[in-house]
Amino acid sequence: MAPTLRDSQAPIERVQVRAYTVPTEEPESDGTLEWRATTLVLVSIAAGSVRGLGYSYADTATARLIHERLAALLEGKDALAINARWEEMVRTVRNLGSGGICAMGISAVDNALWDLKARLLGLPLVALLPAARASVPVYGSGGFTSYDIPRLQRQLAAWVSAGIPRVKMKVGRHPDRDRERVAAARSAIGEAQLFVDANGAYPRKLALEMARVFAGLGVCWYEEPVSSDDLAGLRLIRDRAPAVMEVSAGEYGYDVRYFRRLCAAGAVDVLQADVTRCGGVTGFLRAAAIADAFLLPLSSHCAPALHAAVGCAVRRHARAHRGCARSGPHPSGLRTRAQGVRRRALRRLIARRAVSKRARAATVWGDAARLPPACKRARPSRERRGRLP
Ligand SMILES: [Mg+2]
Repeated sequence: MAPTLRDSQAPIERVQVRAYTVPTEEPESDGTLEWRATTLVLVSIAAGSVRGLGYSYADTATARLIHERLAALLEGKDALAINARWEEMVRTVRNLGSGGICAMGISAVDNALWDLKARLLGLPLVALLPAARASVPVYGSGGFTSYDIPRLQRQLAAWVSAGIPRVKMKVGRHPDRDRERVAAARSAIGEAQLFVDANGAYPRKLALEMARVFAGLGVCWYEEPVSSDDLAGLRLIRDRAPAVMEVSAGEYGYDVRYFRRLCAAGAVDVLQADVTRCGGVTGFLRAAAIADAFLLPLSSHCAPALHAAVGCAVRRHARAHRGCARSGPHPSGLRTRAQGVRRRALRRLIARRAVSKRARAATVWGDAARLPPACKRARPSRERRGRLP
């Protein structure tokens, strides 16, 4: 007898959420923000004696929202019907605002649901997705504006030495120093592709001037030269920047309507999306469809453990940066195998960050007994356990 929808149901038994605040090794900054820690919101969803993990980088308020609004909504429902769960979550946060905390909470839960579904079916996540490729290219991202030049050069050069043929650095905090920093980066990485990210720090005219400076130093990727809310400004830079340079933005996109506005405005050469913000795997696939409709490549942002699989499902992946003055043939160097990478990388992430002596769990909800060993070792002190922020 053919399986029915009823046969396929795997009721969600339990939704747990934790938030880990992990201090950075030293204060870090980009063009518009300074930080000393990162908070990881980790969601665990159990069904049929199987557990899926998902996460987002967000404030502890996101964990509270998941605990108070989303967990009860999900429990008892079919874990395999992810689109239905996603729509229910979006509806339930209507009056709270669909972006920001709500979008990141839905993203963490959706990522856990996809991981759970893959485990229930005994498949790698990439096998559930409309995969267009078996691997995705990567770039090294860092080069914070808080680094002095020797530190900047060491970090970027180390990635190139490790086989990563493209690297990204931050600019915009001190525009008068950006030419020197980017020139130093270029001298450290040789012929590797060099990306810069201003995180919206420049006003329009300065962004135009810096585009010409950076192009002369072989920069082929210009990320958020102006605010990603300034669609006309991005369009201006895109139209007038040297042709060797691609303008990118989209990492702060929370829904497909923003991605559509960005593409329709002609604001970017490469659309970006972040699976920890844009509605999880479900939202990322929607963003990829928008980019495809506008004939634009899509680049994923951060969270490589999550993006390895979904990147394989992007039809127009931003892997070839056409016209890069310093690039040779498209490198076939380091590629990330999607199959199995996501789970192993997430485990390493948790182990490395959560068991660090300096790491502390800010807030915990639910029973930790079924979480993996690395998480158990990172349980907070007794007095912190169960407290709300
Ligand atoms: Mg960026």
